Amino acid sequence: MGNELVQLTVLESAGTLAPAIAPQRATPVSVPGRLRTFYIETFGCQMNVHDSEKVQGVLLARGMTPVDDHAQADLILYNTCSIREKAAQKVFSRLGAFRKGNGGAGKVIGVLGCVAQQEGERFFERAPQVSFVCGSASYSMLPELLDRLEAGDRRVTGLSLDTEECFETELTRRDNPFRAYLTIIEGCDQRCAFCVVPMTRGPQRSRPSERILDEVRRLVDEGYTEIQLLGQIVNAWEDPSPARRSFAELLACVAETPGVRRVRFTTSHPRFFTPDIVQAIDSHPALCDQVHLPVQSGSTPVLERMLRGYSREEYLERIDCIRQARRTISLSTDIIVGFCGETRQDFEQTLSLMQEVEYDQVFSFKYSPRPNTLAATQGDALAEDEKGLRLAELQELQRQIQLRRNQALLGETFEVLVEAHQPRLGQAVGRSTTNRVINFPGSPSDVGRYLTVRVTGAGPNSLVAVRA
Ligand code: SAM
Repeated sequence: MGNELVQLTVLESAGTLAPAIAPQRATPVSVPGRLRTFYIETFGCQMNVHDSEKVQGVLLARGMTPVDDHAQADLILYNTCSIREKAAQKVFSRLGAFRKGNGGAGKVIGVLGCVAQQEGERFFERAPQVSFVCGSASYSMLPELLDRLEAGDRRVTGLSLDTEECFETELTRRDNPFRAYLTIIEGCDQRCAFCVVPMTRGPQRSRPSERILDEVRRLVDEGYTEIQLLGQIVNAWEDPSPARRSFAELLACVAETPGVRRVRFTTSHPRFFTPDIVQAIDSHPALCDQVHLPVQSGSTPVLERMLRGYSREEYLERIDCIRQARRTISLSTDIIVGFCGETRQDFEQTLSLMQEVEYDQVFSFKYSPRPNTLAATQGDALAEDEKGLRLAELQELQRQIQLRRNQALLGETFEVLVEAHQPRLGQAVGRSTTNRVINFPGSPSDVGRYLTVRVTGAGPNSLVAVRA
C-alpha cells in the first residue's frame, strides 16, 4: 500500500459521489497573468500525489483554473518519479508530444519532483520545450518561481536541496474525497544502496507536532474522517517542537482527535519500528490495523549490501512484535528482486520469508540501478530475463498466499468506508481498516459512508460481501 504506483491526472472535480467534503478553496491572492489555466499529471508514490495537491493549491490561490486536457492549458506540469528507470522515462515520453511545432507553442511546460531534481538544468538541453524545473525541496519557492514565469523568464529552476524546511502550505487542494494525505516528514537521511530518494528529496526534516495536529483538526472540519500520515520514512519522524512527542505519541494524538475515525501511516522503516507503535495501535481503535513494513529482501547478506540496517532475524523480530498485538494487524511489504549479486539461494530466502510472514499484500519490483546511488557503482549483474523470472515466481507465491488468507475470512464481518460505486455492476467498493478492498451490492448513496459487511467470497486481491 505504501508504495502503490499511481498515475493520475488531476481534474477539476473529484467526482459527483463525494461525501461532505469542502476542499480548501483559497482566496486568489493575485490576478492571473498570462498563465491562466494549468494541467498537472502526477507519477509515483502517495507523497508525490500529495505534493501535487499542494502545488494545485498554490496555483488555485493565484487565480489559475485547472483543466483536464493539456491542450487547453497555459501551464503544463509533470510531477515525476525516478525511483526506477521506467518511472523516470515516463516524463520524457510525455514531453515528446511537445517537440517543436507539436502543440507546445505558447505554453509553459514544467517538470517537478524527483526527475526534475535528478536532471536539474540538464533538462533544458534534453527537452528544450521545458522552461521550469523544480525539485520537491524547493516547492516553498513556487510563488516566486511562478512570478518569474509570468514575467516571461524562459528558464526557471528551483533545485536547491539545502533546506531545513518542509513544504508547509494551507493552500492544499485535496483530490481524494475520503482519505486526506498529510505529510509529517520530508526527505530521507538513510543511504540505502539502491535508493535515489535522499538525492532527489533532500535531507530529512520533520514538521512540529502542533502544526500536524492543527492540520488534522482542519481536515476534520472539512469533513475528512480518514487521515493518512506520509513520509519517505514516516516513523523516523522526530518532533522538533518543545513537546518532543514520539512518533507513537503523535499517532495516539491524531487518533484521539475528535472526528477522526481512521488513521494510516506510510512508509515505515524496520529500523525505526519500535514496540510503542504496536502498543499505540492496540490501544487506539482509530489507528488502522495495518502496517506496511518494507523488507526488500529475505537474505541477510543482501540486506547488508543494501545498507538497510537490519538482518532477516531482526526484521522477523519486528514482525513477531506486531503479531503479538491484541488486534490482528494486517501486514504488507516491498520487495526488490535481482539486487546486485542476488544468488538463487538469496532469492529463496526471500520466498521463505514470505511464507513465514504471510503478508496480505506485497509490492515487488525488479532492481533498477539508479544514478548516484552506491549500488549503481557495483554493476547490475543479474540479467533482466532472470529478474523477470524471479519476479513472476515471487508474485505467483504471493498470489497463492493472498488467496489462502482471503479465503480464511469467509463469513467474517468488516467495517468498510465506501469509496466508489460501479453502476454497471450495481456494486459498492469499500475498504476495511486492514486495507482490503471489499465489493458488495450497493447504491451510489453508499459512497462516503461507513457500513458493515459480511464476506461471502474471496479472490487474491479483493473480497466479495453482503451487507451485514
Ligand atoms: N522510503 C521507503 C523505504 O525506504 O522503505 C520506500 C520508498 S520507495 C518510494 C518504494 C519502494 O520502491 C521501496 O520500498 C523499494 O522496494 C522500491 N525501490 C526503491 N529503489 C528501487 C530501485 N532502485 N529498484 C527497484 N525498486 C526500488
